[in-house]
Amino acid sequence: MTAQNNLSLLESLPQDLLGEILSRVASSSREDIGNCLLVSKTISSAVEDERVFNKLNLRPQTMNPQTTFVQYNSLMDKCIRSDNPAAHYIEGVKQYFVYDNTVLGMYHLRKSAEGSYGNGTYLYAILLLCTGNQEEGTMVLRSLGWEASRRRGDRCWRENKISLRTFIITVKPEYIQNMMTNAPPLTCHWNDLDTRCARCYIFKQMQKFIIFIQ
Ligand SMILES: [Zn+2]
Repeated sequence: MTAQNNLSLLESLPQDLLGEILSRVASSSREDIGNCLLVSKTISSAVEDERVFNKLNLRPQTMNPQTTFVQYNSLMDKCIRSDNPAAHYIEGVKQYFVYDNTVLGMYHLRKSAEGSYGNGTYLYAILLLCTGNQEEGTMVLRSLGWEASRRRGDRCWRENKISLRTFIITVKPEYIQNMMTNAPPLTCHWNDLDTRCARCYIFKQMQKFIIFIQ
């Protein structure tokens, strides 16, 4: 089959199916979707499908949200409107830490967590815990499965450190007060942040966040 035939075959698919296929392409690469726009009119109109923006891979932007202050404005708008969980994470970080709009920031981080974006889930949980919402914060953090394996939570924290590295974040006194309400017994290796049992895991993850931002 020639490339032209492949293209005709793709164009002949119902728009709905084409949107679904392109949303899968979008989840792996924003560049590939950019190329689809150049191929044909039928395909470029399917790229405007909401599912494409919902699934669009925004990894470069999440790893450096500062870039979205000057670039990608319309892309970010479309992705947020399509409930892309990584776009909600980026917007949440900006609202919370730059514009000091904690309510709107938490709204976007919650949407990111609801979309099962791990880094958003992690940050949302830590901020809930640091601002005194222990019950919900504990539940959201648990959704990353730390009781069975620390791996996913640790990766989310590592990536949050990359995303947040260029932001100036203030340690609010309530963060420390709320961390202390989770303080484990003294037998829990207080000086070793990486040895974490069920009693000290939450406390130590909060402590890592506070040490990182101060
Ligand atoms: Zn412990």
